[in-house]
Amino acid sequence: MLQHLFDGSEHSRADLARSTGLTAATVGAIVGELEARGLILEVGTRRQGSQVGKPPKMLSVRPESRNVISVDLSDPTTFRAAVVDLGGSVVASVNVENPGSANSETLSLVDKVIELAIAKATAPILGIGIGTPGVVTASGSVVEASNFGWHDVGLGIHVEDLTGHPTYVSNDANAAAIAEYSRGGHHCRNLAVVKIGSGVGAGFVLNGQPYGGEHASAGEIGHLVVADDGPRCRCGHRGCLETFVAVPSLENALAESGASAAEVRIDAAERLGVALAAIVAILDLDLIVIAGPRRLLGDDFCANASKSLRSRCLESVAESVTVRFTSLDDDVVLLGAASLVLSQELGVA
Ligand SMILES: [Zn+2]
Repeated sequence: MLQHLFDGSEHSRADLARSTGLTAATVGAIVGELEARGLILEVGTRRQGSQVGKPPKMLSVRPESRNVISVDLSDPTTFRAAVVDLGGSVVASVNVENPGSANSETLSLVDKVIELAIAKATAPILGIGIGTPGVVTASGSVVEASNFGWHDVGLGIHVEDLTGHPTYVSNDANAAAIAEYSRGGHHCRNLAVVKIGSGVGAGFVLNGQPYGGEHASAGEIGHLVVADDGPRCRCGHRGCLETFVAVPSLENALAESGASAAEVRIDAAERLGVALAAIVAILDLDLIVIAGPRRLLGDDFCANASKSLRSRCLESVAESVTVRFTSLDDDVVLLGAASLVLSQELGVA
């Protein structure tokens, strides 16, 4: 029932019975419980042309009735957290700078940004969602996040112990994919988000479900080799995707390029297209969303990546896929982490 109510429109009890297949008595009981918890309320009546009898009372979600604390660790220099309402609006946000400390000190900065956000909550907290770089297990453990020196850090359990709130952790690109699926307004069931920051990672929603792979490592595309003779990568190989498009690599190349900055961005977009062509050929996606700094990766970058992708796969495959920059901008990971909490705690996607 909440899934139907969360589509943003108003529903009568009869609408809900029709759309869920539940009996009127069951709908009435559930509505009573949701009203008692303050999650929904009656917002007036609906008059229908020739209808006889009393017009039905309409029900709607109360976005302000609960808050989600949402955390984005994808920028290793600045941790962000936000208070998000049930409608996906950011009510307040806070930042904590990370001067480059590693391991346990980084964890205490995560604690700090969460505590600052909790202090700004305006309603009972439903849960905490965290998007972090690295490989994350279903139980919220970070297997590996090299930027922070984390190995097997039980981040979810740590934050639950600290705050007493249910906590869900996802890889940042996976969180971004969930955000695009639930809040991007695309209405497509198969999409990828390529998150470009200090590294490059992809998150997937396939058949309407987040896809993490057998070892939670799906979408680790940063070290796909896209040019055999390319620059040496930190992993030891040459020409990995991240040596062209990760933000530090792209910024360095632009700083050294002088007058040929436009060509550097076109070249980076073309290399990304090589990796995207492989992804699309394997997964048959409707949409690829690029997330990261707009000044580097904005619309002409996406158009060039799309052109490169199209020149590298079958016309019939390429025709059906769109490459675009995220409409959720810098909030994409925060909103994905919030959606994770809504889906786990309320069963809405
Ligand atoms: Zn590499």
